[in-house]
Amino acid sequence: MHHVVWFRRDLRLGDNPAWAAATQQADEVTALFVLDPALFTNAGPHRQEALVAHLRGLDTELRERGGRLRVEHGKPLTVLPQIVDEVGAGHVHWNRDTTPYSVTRDDALARQLSCTQHWGTLVHEPGAVLTQKGTLSKVFTPFYNTWYATAMHAWPTETGDVTVAANPGPGLPDVATPLSIEGGEQAAHRRLGDFMNRVDNYLGQRDLLAVVGTSMLSADLRFGTLSPREVADIVGEQTEGRRGFVRQLAWRDWYAHLLYQHPTMTSQALKPQYNEIVWRDDPAGFDAWKHGQTGFPIIDAGMRELAATGYMHNRVRMLTGSFLVKDLLIDWRLGERWFRHLLLDADMSQNVGNWQWVAGTGTDAAPYFRVFNPTTQSRKFDPAGGYLRRWVPELAGLDDKAVHEPSIVAPLELAAAGVVLGDNYPHPIVDHSMARERVLTAYKQALAIAPDSGDVQ
Ligand SMILES: Cc1cc2nc3c(=O)[nH]c(=O)nc-3n(C[C@H](O)[C@H](O)[C@H](O)COP(=O)(O)OP(=O)(O)OC[C@H]3O[C@@H](n4cnc5c(N)ncnc54)[C@H](O)[C@@H]3O)c2cc1C
Repeated sequence: MHHVVWFRRDLRLGDNPAWAAATQQADEVTALFVLDPALFTNAGPHRQEALVAHLRGLDTELRERGGRLRVEHGKPLTVLPQIVDEVGAGHVHWNRDTTPYSVTRDDALARQLSCTQHWGTLVHEPGAVLTQKGTLSKVFTPFYNTWYATAMHAWPTETGDVTVAANPGPGLPDVATPLSIEGGEQAAHRRLGDFMNRVDNYLGQRDLLAVVGTSMLSADLRFGTLSPREVADIVGEQTEGRRGFVRQLAWRDWYAHLLYQHPTMTSQALKPQYNEIVWRDDPAGFDAWKHGQTGFPIIDAGMRELAATGYMHNRVRMLTGSFLVKDLLIDWRLGERWFRHLLLDADMSQNVGNWQWVAGTGTDAAPYFRVFNPTTQSRKFDPAGGYLRRWVPELAGLDDKAVHEPSIVAPLELAAAGVVLGDNYPHPIVDHSMARERVLTAYKQALAIAPDSGDVQ
């Protein structure tokens, strides 16, 4: 019996229920990846590069088992049935995803093909973590408490006596630059091993911008080169740092479960009354934000880090997101799309969930009247300015105090550091105090039309 395993966001063989089930049930397995040109083009350069690196890594793993990864190009709805037909497969396995796009596509395929849809990209699948009333909690902490107490159910394990088909298909696309990412699950496990040297300090360091205090594993979780279950298991719960880290994986599951239950949250506020907010149309402000030219060093540092690396520290994601929505009063959906294009770890559920948290329009979100002050936050989380100087080098000559807010520094001091506002670094594009009042008025007006009843769409 021949089975196909359709790899998607689970680019590993270890702790992968779709792969393991196929190896147990079939004599021969085709390992397939379908490169959807529409999705590939939408992914920014960092994610394209990472995808190619991880697919090569998966191919290497499969070669060690005597086969190849078959990479086909096209729409899965067309390609998958063709390959199933061509290889004479009796059954297909894949690990499910929670985005509306993938749910619709997978449902259509499941109607045509003999298949098993597994869950392999979350610690707990949607529906496994519910309140006593059988609903998904709208508040994170109760969700987390149940999540933590829920046992992981056993997954099948891979068997070694299966033949892996060796046809590579048309293969991988070219990428413009040489790969800087070490792809595949073995490299991902090395990155996890590296984090294990720091995990016990996680809680003390996770908010410091100038040090690597977090795991930096989000992209491996996004591509599935790491299994979140395995990560949670390896990290364990012996110290506060470890428990604090594993708690973050519950946020990841929660946003995935929320999107699965509320597919409209990709474009609509989870709390519908916030759809009434009247956003500003400000292409120049949006452009300055995107390109790190707002005149607020912490915002510019974050946006430049994102463009250069595909990564941004969580605290800075909160600040840059808040700046767009609250200081510029620009629609969170525009920011979400820009992040999704550039982030290495871009994931519809995580990105939308976090953007709605930042905008105050989601469930268990930051209350809308909490407006981050970018300069105060910058002083708090990057006190010596190391993060700022790295990403905004034109301010590197300013001292630790001045670097956070060049707009209030005396012209002589600026000149001594080589900074000319309006020339080699912008004046602030908005007055924060004015912007704060403006956004509070806009939100209040929206809520006056439709008060916040606490309901979630
Ligand atoms: C506006 C905004 C957009 C975001 N977009 C994404 C996204 O597209 N993809 C994504 O994976 N994360 C997103 N995040 C969440 C978070 O910023 C990243 O997961 C984190 O910065 C990744 O770095 P790390 O792996 O070192 O995190 P760590 O601090 O080491 O956390 C460990 C893991 O927990 C999960 N996690 C941590 N924080 C969160 C969170 N707030 N929400 C959900 N899961 C979390 C991630 O999988 C992360 O890898 C976003 C946050 C904000 C504020």
